[in-house]
Amino acid sequence: MDGSENLGDDVRTAPGYQAAGRHSAVKVCRWTADALTGGKGCYKSTFYGIQSHRCLQMSPAADACNLHCRFCWRDQSWEYDDSPPDFDAPESVLERSVDAQRRLLSGYGGDSRVKVTRLQEALEPRHVAISLTGEPTLYPKLSEYLQLCHERGMTTFLVTNGTHPEAVRALDPLPTQLYVSVTAPNREVFQRLTHPSGEDAWDRLKETLGIVRTLDTRRVLRHTLVKGWNMGWEDQYARLDSIALPDFIEVKGYAFMGRSRHRLSRENVPSLVEVRAFAHRLAKLLGFEEAETSEEASVVLLARGSRPRFLDGFGPDAKESGC
Ligand code: SF4
Repeated sequence: MDGSENLGDDVRTAPGYQAAGRHSAVKVCRWTADALTGGKGCYKSTFYGIQSHRCLQMSPAADACNLHCRFCWRDQSWEYDDSPPDFDAPESVLERSVDAQRRLLSGYGGDSRVKVTRLQEALEPRHVAISLTGEPTLYPKLSEYLQLCHERGMTTFLVTNGTHPEAVRALDPLPTQLYVSVTAPNREVFQRLTHPSGEDAWDRLKETLGIVRTLDTRRVLRHTLVKGWNMGWEDQYARLDSIALPDFIEVKGYAFMGRSRHRLSRENVPSLVEVRAFAHRLAKLLGFEEAETSEEASVVLLARGSRPRFLDGFGPDAKESGC
């Protein structure tokens, strides 16, 4: 998830955001902007081959989540978690999201660092990162939305907190890459760190891990490490990871940003050395290999080796236009 410095109660009206209907929002990721202006883009480009300048970062449930993670950059004045509004049609969510991305990118036309061909490509997104804010599985038309994205030739990365197993089980089609956040090694740490609305969130997360094991798509578990809160317990993380048996594990250091700065301090940010040490211990327990590290994003990618790292048609050998 991306951060923001100045978030109002409704994230969709915060600076840098565009509303995409009644419950969806878009924000141009800073790495999309970086790739547009000649930079190398985000770690998902290095890890999986996505084209960062063509990535649409959005959420279909921008103001909804059943968790209250301390490390979340949002203010967490969730508009709804149990009593949702009328939902927009997936066609509308997608069209409005692409339009919003184009509006947000239009300002780059006057930037001398941006090549015209690169901007033209960016205006036609190829990837949708369904991860901006909120819990996307609370949008009940998520499958139809994924289908529309795929029909349009876009890959989809869906990030979920894993506490809605019924929604994960019902996904059809599956996203190109499914992320489940596993941010605690056990129930006690989970309760303290994520303050779930329901009592059974931990059990539901574990149920989701069992479902993930059976899914025929690219599967990633993400551990966001918050120093002093959820680091250590590698053996317990390994047991949870073994339930899902994912293709990849991302071990990511907490970033001190947004509203999380009111709940945590800089001391809670692990160094890259600490993140790597955790990742190595976990990899050893699971028999995974360290595949890549992003220093900028403080993320280590662990791979099981069973699935190609790069998306079909993308990666270092794929032909890219632009810069
Ligand atoms: S699951 Fe995501 S959106 Fe919900 S509180 Fe945690 S970090 Fe924030």
